[in-house]
Amino acid sequence: MIYAANFKMNHTRASTKAYLEALQEALAGKNADDRVIVFPPATAYDHYEGDFTLGAQNAYPAKEGAYTGEIGTAQLEEFGIRTILIGHSERRQLLGESQSFVAEKFAYFKENGFEILYCIGEPLHIRQQGDEAVMTYLLSQFEGIDTSYEKLIVAYEPIWAIGTGRSATVEEIATTHEGLKKTIQKPLLYGGSVKPENIKEITSIRGVDGVLIGSAALDAKNFATMILG
Ligand code: PEP
Repeated sequence: MIYAANFKMNHTRASTKAYLEALQEALAGKNADDRVIVFPPATAYDHYEGDFTLGAQNAYPAKEGAYTGEIGTAQLEEFGIRTILIGHSERRQLLGESQSFVAEKFAYFKENGFEILYCIGEPLHIRQQGDEAVMTYLLSQFEGIDTSYEKLIVAYEPIWAIGTGRSATVEEIATTHEGLKKTIQKPLLYGGSVKPENIKEITSIRGVDGVLIGSAALDAKNFATMILG
């Protein structure tokens, strides 16, 4: 299983350090086959040692240059960061990242050999139209994406389930993962209101290879509890 924590715009440099120390201590009891990835805010990047991978929530598709407010691969390389989240719905919706820009980012980070955690997910009005509409929508989010890339991990995150406390049902997750796996044979995570109360049920669904967790992973103990089971 892959357990990924997305801090979004939460935690400082100091609290991330304390978090990762607490997490590392707890991870001594983790199953050797399980993988843990933590995406802190960029201000907290550092050289951390531990049984987890530090990833970037975002970066601009360039090494360096005149891109005010952005960071590129030069800044990630300073901390040995080789994993990146691309396509998160908050960036698509709140920051206006189009499919073509997401695909440009994907191509750049692929070219540079990064592990890419690529997010897809449908809005509520599409979910209400049924499974076929959901699948058509999700597959359109792979436009311009090389789904054969060997360092690709996909995260299915229904937008209506993110940060709402309302996870997709077991049936919705199972059907969507099964559908996606017919086209994309890559590790497939589920994300959207995963918490200690539902993680066991979600990780036991066939076709779920891991979870991407926001709110419930902001506390190191909570995240560790979910990893350790
Ligand atoms: C996310 O934003 O990737 C996410 C899954 O958030 P939450 O767990 O808070 O729904």
